[in-house]
Amino acid sequence: MRRQYIEPMPRLRVALLPSQCEVCRLWSRDRLCPECATRFAPTVARCEHCALRLPGGVTVCGACLREPPPQRQAACVADYAFPWDGLIADFKFHGHVELASALAPLLARASAAAPARHPPPDLLLPVPLSPGRLRERGYNQAWELARRVARLRGIAARADLLSRPVETAHQADLPRAQRLANLRAAFIVEPRARAAILGRHVALVDDVWTTGATVRECAAVLLRAGAASVDAWVLARTPEH
Ligand SMILES: [Zn+2]
Ligand SMILES: [Zn+2]
Repeated sequence: MRRQYIEPMPRLRVALLPSQCEVCRLWSRDRLCPECATRFAPTVARCEHCALRLPGGVTVCGACLREPPPQRQAACVADYAFPWDGLIADFKFHGHVELASALAPLLARASAAAPARHPPPDLLLPVPLSPGRLRERGYNQAWELARRVARLRGIAARADLLSRPVETAHQADLPRAQRLANLRAAFIVEPRARAAILGRHVALVDDVWTTGATVRECAAVLLRAGAASVDAWVLARTPEH
């Protein structure tokens, strides 16, 4: 209900009135003009499993070589830095759900550009929010992205298969070592959802990839539930310090 209430207004505003690019402030039909989208999301070499930026010619980062992660392939639009940090904060924390329409095509393009070593996924799943967080925010930003990317890529999307029954401590508040432990048992595939996961090539969709603990935990849960493979598509990847 709440989602239906939030969306029509910004959509109308974007569709009917001239608007400004969020970044360069030039008049643009889009919230992010094509020039800025290209300039701030250059195509660079990234780790195929975790999307960490790498020197050209290298395809897997040292951490993923040492300990191969459960997710098969990763795609991201850009590093988590200007202007994406501000755009994503507006999208996620300040109620600007309409930014999903500007951001989703970039993620659709980045995911399609990933090296075609594997067939594309046949199911997109958003990283879920807990029911409490969803009520508080009014929408799951990952689902707003996932359903639009799904439409653009011609892939099915479901928000009801992977769930997060209880809230855990904010990942950002925890030291790196505690983040994975914090998430253990945070995500579940309900028994009634297993048939829809079984044998499917799944891609998880999220806004930001920080340590990768969330993606890793979700991917492990989905593989245990019978997914054939799990990819991870995120808007922005935090560069390593
Ligand atoms: Zn611009
Ligand atoms: Zn990696």
